[in-house]
Amino acid sequence: MAEAPSQHPPVHIMGAGLSGLAAATLLARAGREVHVHDIRQDSGARFDGDFQALENWSMDDDFFDQLNEWGLAPSSFKATTFDTVDLIHPDDVITQARTSGVAYRIVERGTSDDAIDQGFKRQAIEAGATIHYGSRVNEEDCTIIACGPKGTSAVAYGEIFKTDHPNHIAFQLNDKLAPGSYSYLIIIEGVGLICTCLWRKQRKSERFLNETIAWYETHYPNLNRQPIKRVGGKGDFTINQHYKQDGRYYVGESGGLQDFMWGFGMRMAVWSGVLAARDILGEGDYEQDVRRHLMPYVRTSVANRWLMNRVGDRMFKRMCKAWMKDQNKRGDGLIWIGKLFRPTSFKRLLYRIVSPFMLVKDDKAMGRGVRRLPFRPALKRDHWEPSDEAKAIGEQWKRVRRQGGHESFANDNEREVQAQEKAAISS
Ligand SMILES: Cc1cc2nc3c(=O)[nH]c(=O)nc-3n(C[C@H](O)[C@H](O)[C@H](O)COP(=O)(O)OP(=O)(O)OC[C@H]3O[C@@H](n4cnc5c(N)ncnc54)[C@H](O)[C@@H]3O)c2cc1C
Repeated sequence: MAEAPSQHPPVHIMGAGLSGLAAATLLARAGREVHVHDIRQDSGARFDGDFQALENWSMDDDFFDQLNEWGLAPSSFKATTFDTVDLIHPDDVITQARTSGVAYRIVERGTSDDAIDQGFKRQAIEAGATIHYGSRVNEEDCTIIACGPKGTSAVAYGEIFKTDHPNHIAFQLNDKLAPGSYSYLIIIEGVGLICTCLWRKQRKSERFLNETIAWYETHYPNLNRQPIKRVGGKGDFTINQHYKQDGRYYVGESGGLQDFMWGFGMRMAVWSGVLAARDILGEGDYEQDVRRHLMPYVRTSVANRWLMNRVGDRMFKRMCKAWMKDQNKRGDGLIWIGKLFRPTSFKRLLYRIVSPFMLVKDDKAMGRGVRRLPFRPALKRDHWEPSDEAKAIGEQWKRVRRQGGHESFANDNEREVQAQEKAAISS
């Protein structure tokens, strides 16, 4: 039965993203007075129409079953399911990873009605939470800190375009186009996204996106791409000594709760919001629950990231071959990739050995013992001249931008690199 609101002080949540809104919904539904504050003008504005993937292989439970169990409705937003994904090897071979279940659900992030952020926002409002957009609050005045990334461990840049190509999804392991990481193509109902992720800090980072787009245009000749806008942002990967401190709950990316290897974070964001709400409602212990449910996966991903940082295209090729061989043997492409994400004693041991060297202390984290995955410097092999095709794509984007094409990221990476270089010169 819902409790009377007056029995408890209002709960203030900093950040109206997935983690903050999940917590707000559960708390408001239980009768608490909830205020969610967001510096932006709407939920999802950070992403501006980006497509993101809800992966469905890392854990035993289907994410949508979890949402239903928590009382959060998957039907509140649009999700497009894929059971097949093109796996693009670093030597440009394209194979298909398939499953009889759900491999990915693609959702839109942003302010359109179909976006997952808007679905979560509607649920929070229906439950009775009050959302204050354009509201700047102090961390000390909030109970739940759900404001996304603070630092930068990696970045992703993408272009959204119109296309007449049928729905499609492709995932590419290629250390040149996506240093230390991967690129992807997603097409849903006439709208496409080509995105590259950089796990090493680069100058002139737009050349990676242009070269990646050029690659996809060559290998998917029927894209008929008409650029609309460019999107992207940074990811923050941290391990925290305390996830609850001085009565405050650090959830989602504010608690560093995401996959260090490839940056999947939506699932843990929602889950951690749910766990924080349950603790406030007296139904759990956030610190313990995060350690029990989420940290084994986070630690595994730290070990995976350490391994990823040590390899290049030769190992990526071996990974692709091993993945396909396993699929042929078992008849399902999710088993191999699922195993990579699952905790094992080897990964636990590796985490213990490598994490002290890999992560850097954040002294500004209000005594929470935050250690961040640093944005690694570029390697020699990251310096290359763009192809003529990539230069033409860069020029095309300049024309689109002049005609009103929008860029939703303020190239943080570039600015940070320049600031760090300035600091290095003057010291
Ligand atoms: C380009 C990109 C692609 C990604 N792709 C995927 C993917 O395919 N799959 C996946 O699972 N994950 C992906 N992620 C990660 C995923 O987006 C995050 O893990 C997830 O959104 C984190 O949720 P959150 O609730 O912590 O933060 P968010 O959902 O980002 O919400 C944070 C909110 O806090 C607000 N805010 C910020 N500062 C303040 C402040 N000072 N005061 C008040 N409010 C504030 C922001 O405006 C925002 O609304 C991607 C990330 C990026 C950047």
